[in-house]
Amino acid sequence: MNPKLPDHPTGAVCDAPAPGVAELQRLAALMRYDIIDTPPEERFDRITRLAQKIFRTSMVTISLLDARRQWFKSRIGVAVEETPREPAFCNVTIQRAEPLVVEDAAKDPMFANNAFVTGEPYLRFYAGAPLITPEGHALGAFCVLDRTPRRFNPQEREILVDLAELVVAEMNLRQIANVDALTGALSRRAFREEAERAMGLAARHGHPLSVLTFDLDRFKSVNDTHGHAVGDAVLQRSVSASMRRLRRSDAVGRLGGEEFAVLLPHVDEPAALKVANALRRSIAAETFETETTTFGVTASFGLATFRTGMDLDDMLKAADGALYLAKAMGRDRCVVAEASRLQKRGKAA
Ligand code: GH3
Ligand code: MG
Ligand code: MG
Repeated sequence: MNPKLPDHPTGAVCDAPAPGVAELQRLAALMRYDIIDTPPEERFDRITRLAQKIFRTSMVTISLLDARRQWFKSRIGVAVEETPREPAFCNVTIQRAEPLVVEDAAKDPMFANNAFVTGEPYLRFYAGAPLITPEGHALGAFCVLDRTPRRFNPQEREILVDLAELVVAEMNLRQIANVDALTGALSRRAFREEAERAMGLAARHGHPLSVLTFDLDRFKSVNDTHGHAVGDAVLQRSVSASMRRLRRSDAVGRLGGEEFAVLLPHVDEPAALKVANALRRSIAAETFETETTTFGVTASFGLATFRTGMDLDDMLKAADGALYLAKAMGRDRCVVAEASRLQKRGKAA
């Protein structure tokens, strides 16, 4: 073990105490970054690749800890996207808010019986530097890991801390960016701000407002068949095809991987259904060429129209419920919230 490190704290998080105020504040800070469950991004993958070249460990992760999970924003050599939080070494790293180095977990009384040491992925070596926000919240850790024990010198520890700081800097840049770099759609946060402002106006002045959500159909198989880069191009062109059909006052936001929302101020339900179908058709009309084949994609839509008393989450939830039905009804269609339970609307529009 690195002799410079203080002793491990007692009462590790494994006892799963009820979250205290500090932990609740930490979780709220993590939520504000709006990063959990988002797709891989080159700006983070670049840093994990660099770490692997420097440290030559078989695994590198950017681990973020929410209430229950350890979720990886970037990972090398780790098969899963997330693990339960409880056994994560990073729990200790964030608790200490300083780097943790475990040179041989099997010989460390705190970790020898840890589920990740005695079972998959059979960790022996862990070095993690906490990801500390400017306000001082440790959201997770930048980690290098291995299945064999190894030493970690002070200079390596310094590099790890620098890389963790780079990760936080990228998280901060990402948080202030209003536009998604791949598609040109608004970020989820920027879309929400815009939508809330528009809903306030609609409520005050009594004019209509609709929200669409859409999700590409069977997009996983596009990635699986043609590769992630082609998948990216499909996403990018599907969004630009949609944007061409919209007015300047409309807004498109990327809510998640390949799920988007469209804000339609001054548009009532029948008109919004027409817009949805126009977008649906324009996505379906795009063709994509690879060296071996030409293919197209479709998307499913959900539509919700503002009613007094609804907040943005109500609207998005309603639109999402309708989108879910559109998927269940066979995809490549638009379903209107509420009416959606009774009948399908839109395929014929
Ligand atoms: P469904 O018709 O039910 O929507 O099926 P689906 O295959 O589209 O399922 P789902 O919506 O769950 O799949 C989302 C997939 O989108 C998984 C993820 O790998 C992929 N994805 C998310 N973001 C990106 C991205 O930025 N680029 C690429 N290429 N793929 C992405
Ligand atoms: Mg999909
Ligand atoms: Mg999806």
